[in-house]
Amino acid sequence: PHLFDALDDQPLDAMLTLLHLLRNDPRSDKIDLGIGVYGDDNGCTPVMQAAKMAERNLIETQTSKAYLAAEGDAHFINLLAQRVLGGAEVNRYCGVQTPGGTGALRLAAELIHKANPEARVWLGTPTWINHHALIRSAGLHILEHPFFDQATQSVLFDEMMTALESARTGDVVLLHACCHNPTGADFTPAQWRTIGELVNRKGLIPLIDIAYQGLGHGMEADAAAMRTLLDSVPEAIIAASCSKNFGLYRERIGALWVKADSATAALRARGNLILIARAMWSMPPDHGAAVVRTILDSTDLTQIWLTELEQMRTRLNSMRAELAKAVPQLASVAQQSGMFALLPLNREAVADLRVKHGIYMVENGRMNIAGLQAGNLPRFAAALKPYLQ
Ligand code: PMP
Repeated sequence: PHLFDALDDQPLDAMLTLLHLLRNDPRSDKIDLGIGVYGDDNGCTPVMQAAKMAERNLIETQTSKAYLAAEGDAHFINLLAQRVLGGAEVNRYCGVQTPGGTGALRLAAELIHKANPEARVWLGTPTWINHHALIRSAGLHILEHPFFDQATQSVLFDEMMTALESARTGDVVLLHACCHNPTGADFTPAQWRTIGELVNRKGLIPLIDIAYQGLGHGMEADAAAMRTLLDSVPEAIIAASCSKNFGLYRERIGALWVKADSATAALRARGNLILIARAMWSMPPDHGAAVVRTILDSTDLTQIWLTELEQMRTRLNSMRAELAKAVPQLASVAQQSGMFALLPLNREAVADLRVKHGIYMVENGRMNIAGLQAGNLPRFAAALKPYLQ
């Protein structure tokens, strides 16, 4: 028998199938609300000016492409830490550079498994689909708690808290810092405090995924609740992505921080992170980190980047407001934040919208708010209405 004959056939990835259908749709007025990438009012995902300027600077000044180190570019990590963690007690944190937020999450899962193979990871229903695969791949057991009711567009907070009462000491709870994917629904400050109390009372470890910082209420505001939680817990893990807020998707750039109970424990965690990273990717890719470092190291470039990010954020929020205005049943969309909304549509409705109207969304009803434009929003709203209560 041949080795690869033992493999099972795999269904085509739903997102790739959608992309294929979209590309082959000849209709000139088709609307792409599928894949989670920011688009401007012309439907473009341009390289940010700040990133272009940083890249020009790198071409002039970079003298070597030799390896950095398994932990990546220390200066990048420190500069990004100031943006993500703010003025945290740095000696209790260790950070490493990772290939995207995905790399950070996978590294986090491997570290958790190494420290406690019995730890279970609690994921909200629904969450970013890849969370399941990433956590499972490290050999960790997943438990789910309710998070969001699609029909009523509300966070099921009491149900979530009730479910988490059965968590065991040492279990991990994954939280989206802001701009929840796929629902756009975030916790209130009061709910974050309640989560903090539960985490401390039961001895749970928060694993915080921050992939859309700056696209909800702003760079500082989007990190505020997470930072308050981090200050109140002895141990935590933070997985950050620079894909969306620096527009560096394909460069694969992110970071992972571990907050430990002491500086010694943080150093030990760091040693283990490096060991695990060596066995997965050896060294993280440099270019994205070099771009982010160059931006954050310059007051001028930082200002340009923040202005561009603010334009993206403002555009998302104005599309949210416009959609809520055009479709009263979706009023909650204006209260949610970030790139996504999980519309109260079933699979048939999503398929119908695609076939009849050339409107492309993920089959669970997730839409990318950034796919809306002044020019396509009225048509989208009109097409949507018959499918809503
Ligand atoms: N977390 C969430 C919630 C995401 O939506 C994404 C990207 N879709 C990521 C993490 C990872 O992003 P990346 O690996 O592209 O940086």
